[in-house]
Amino acid sequence: MQKPVVAVVGRPNVGKSTLFNKIAGSRISIVEDTPGVTRDRIFADCEWLGHKFSLIDTGGIEPFSKDIILSQMRRQAQLAIDTADVILLLVDGRVGMTPADLEVSNMIRKTKTPVLLVVNKIETKSLEKDIFEFYNLGLGDPIAISAEQALGLGDLLDEVIKSFEKSEIDFEEDDRLKIAVLGKPNVGKSTLVNRLLGEERVIVSNIPGTTRDAIDSVFKYYGEEYVLIDTAGLRKKNKIYDDIEKYSIVRAVAAVERADVCLLLIDAETGITEQDAKIAGIAHNRGKAAIIVVNKWDTIDKDNTTIKSFEKDIRSKLSFMSYAPILYISALDGQRVNKVMETVLQVSNEHAKRITTGLLNDIISEAILLNQPPSDKGRRLKIYYATQATIRPPTFILFVNTKDILHFSYVRYLENQIRNSFGFVGTPIKFLIREKS
Ligand code: GDP
Ligand code: GDP
Repeated sequence: MQKPVVAVVGRPNVGKSTLFNKIAGSRISIVEDTPGVTRDRIFADCEWLGHKFSLIDTGGIEPFSKDIILSQMRRQAQLAIDTADVILLLVDGRVGMTPADLEVSNMIRKTKTPVLLVVNKIETKSLEKDIFEFYNLGLGDPIAISAEQALGLGDLLDEVIKSFEKSEIDFEEDDRLKIAVLGKPNVGKSTLVNRLLGEERVIVSNIPGTTRDAIDSVFKYYGEEYVLIDTAGLRKKNKIYDDIEKYSIVRAVAAVERADVCLLLIDAETGITEQDAKIAGIAHNRGKAAIIVVNKWDTIDKDNTTIKSFEKDIRSKLSFMSYAPILYISALDGQRVNKVMETVLQVSNEHAKRITTGLLNDIISEAILLNQPPSDKGRRLKIYYATQATIRPPTFILFVNTKDILHFSYVRYLENQIRNSFGFVGTPIKFLIREKS
């Protein structure tokens, strides 16, 4: 299921990060648990009354610098327009309406994305009259809050949830497989998208009028419809981003959020970079199926060790996704591009695969016999049984006697045993540990 994206936009010092931290608490994550990759506090996974959504703090992307605030605001507003299902424009009730607030309002008012106008720093009744001037922004009724004192946040979140319903994107009913094409600028995303759409396949339609201005294409492959999410198209359409890395990371997160399968494009000429690892980490952490696609293979002088050394480098730099198959293609001349959809279907099946509880427990029992669970201070870990809770990604619940002696390395061992028996090629596997006495 797709998770809606909510973006917070606003001038410096209006209270964006305060609001973000109040709503998200400690659940801020963009590329957590991904070795060798720095953390960015931009995205948070949130939940309100059972509705899950991702919150972006557009102000967290680049520190505001004095002389270019306006152009930065435009960039952040554009990012919100491109990626979000709901936009929160945060303004400062104490400072009052400013020209920058008006500028951003003019940009976001034109889109179909629902916008909530939120006036911050309203702590007392006597300040409530200060919200009225914001009607001039033409964004409807202002919602008064105090982020710092956590006042009005419940009402605000209720409105956010209501806006999901207004948003035109259908989060649950579209059951076509969605494929995101990801990678740093110039890696060949557009070229690959054109190949996939152009060859043997019919473009059914683009999807205009969705709330996001994202460039999604529907195409047919062996009679089935698929949706291709092209993250390059946006950058090309909106030169406003330049190539600031964090903007492309945020767009990648938003695309991954909506995708089932991620194609992670790597440039064969430059090899794997930190940005590639970040993007891969996003797909991994969000539990999506993934394929590593090494593009521009035509540019490489090859001998019989070339593939091996590429693979070694990929496996060491992207060690957290050893499950992902690797393809070596040339989007430009079409070499092995036919493998792409074949592999997409394969990993998608694995992503949705279910193992019966009986079979699973046979494998776990065997694994335990082969390699005893760890013991600690005289206690030995007991794994009573396991069951698969969900698919996409496959998620297993392990019922144990005590959680704290179950080391990460033993979970990793069990994961490997499960993979040896059942494959799960191209998909991460998650474990939930439950204590049972
Ligand atoms: P950002 O630049 O938009 O991310 O703003 P911050 O969250 O860093 O907040 C800027 C300043 O406003 C800080 O000094 C906050 O303590 C203050 N602030 C944030 N929310 C409120 C609020 O609800 N009421 C008041 N009075 N001050 C606030
Ligand atoms: P994007 O920014 O990721 O969408 O990258 P583009 O698809 O625009 O490609 C960037 C440049 O790389 C263009 O000049 C393409 O012609 C070139 N390119 C893309 N794929 C290949 C490939 O497989 N081999 C070679 N040699 N060049 C490629």
